[in-house]
Amino acid sequence: MKRVFSGIKPTGHLTLGNYLGAMRRWSEVDQHEADALFCVVDLHALTVDHDPGRVRRLSRQAATLLLATGLDPRLCTVFVQSHVDEHARLSYLLECVATDGEMRRMIQYKEKAAAERARGGSVRLSLLTYPVLMAADILAYGTDEVPVGDDQTQHVELTRDLAVRFNQRYGRTFVVPRTTHPEVAARVMNLQDPTSKMGKSDDVGPGVVYLLDEPETVRKKIMRAVTDSGSDVVHDREARPGVSNLLEILAACEGGDPEELAGAYETYGSLKKETAEAVVELLKPVQRRHQELCADPSYVEGVLREGAERAREMARPRVDAAYRAIGL
Ligand code: ADP
Repeated sequence: MKRVFSGIKPTGHLTLGNYLGAMRRWSEVDQHEADALFCVVDLHALTVDHDPGRVRRLSRQAATLLLATGLDPRLCTVFVQSHVDEHARLSYLLECVATDGEMRRMIQYKEKAAAERARGGSVRLSLLTYPVLMAADILAYGTDEVPVGDDQTQHVELTRDLAVRFNQRYGRTFVVPRTTHPEVAARVMNLQDPTSKMGKSDDVGPGVVYLLDEPETVRKKIMRAVTDSGSDVVHDREARPGVSNLLEILAACEGGDPEELAGAYETYGSLKKETAEAVVELLKPVQRRHQELCADPSYVEGVLREGAERAREMARPRVDAAYRAIGL
């Protein structure tokens, strides 16, 4: 059975982008078809200015939401990254294989570092080395497939490079993983600025739909989404990013193809209305289950404790082997 690994950062409330781009596939497909691990990658939340209490709360919330989307601990392993030491242990070895030039070329690093500097802040070294820790997350488990949104492609490419380089230098230790993306909505865009992605950590505002938004809030955000000049509904990411984003969200919610869907709507208003209702319906069962799980915190704790034990057992032999291979 193939091994699948993916993660989510507790840097903010989870968004529709996280769900359509990654999480939905984890519960609907991956946990059934693979030996899958899903991780709240809390160490990654420390790469930017953070509040300790908030990170802890958001980690718990992310884990609860993962279960609320339908991940079943009998089918897959759900855990928190910092509960398993192997991630940090392996990350250091991979830092000895990666180069600083390679790290500085990462688009996400460039963007986040520039934003941090523009705010007058300083850039944490961990922001630069973040993709190495991500590579460790993936490689520790002998992962075959990494289901992620489009924005993570470059990081998984780097992971592949590091795996190949390590194997060539020190002997075959790691499986070289590949990415998988959803067919539609691999990159959900911000509703107020459809040229940038809907990101949980960058924007708290009307352009981001959060998984726990009330139905009325979802409707308001989608009805107020920025659309493009012109009034006919066409799918064209370059020329009509706003409308195309709505079409992709709708297609992802209801199934179907965004280009074909475009033909069914005459006005932006009717498209927005339909999209808003589809998102409300999509989120309903997740929100209901989230509420139930919040009433039973010891269940979530138990799942995470057991998940960490399982993950540790899976990761340790490979990380130990990497230590031996590199000369320790
Ligand atoms: P964020 O960028 O919101 O902080 P993470 O880095 O925690 O998200 O990513 C969790 C998963 O969600 C990744 O697989 C990422 O590719 C996916 N993802 C995040 N934002 C989007 C988006 N706007 N559209 C599609 N997928 C996304």
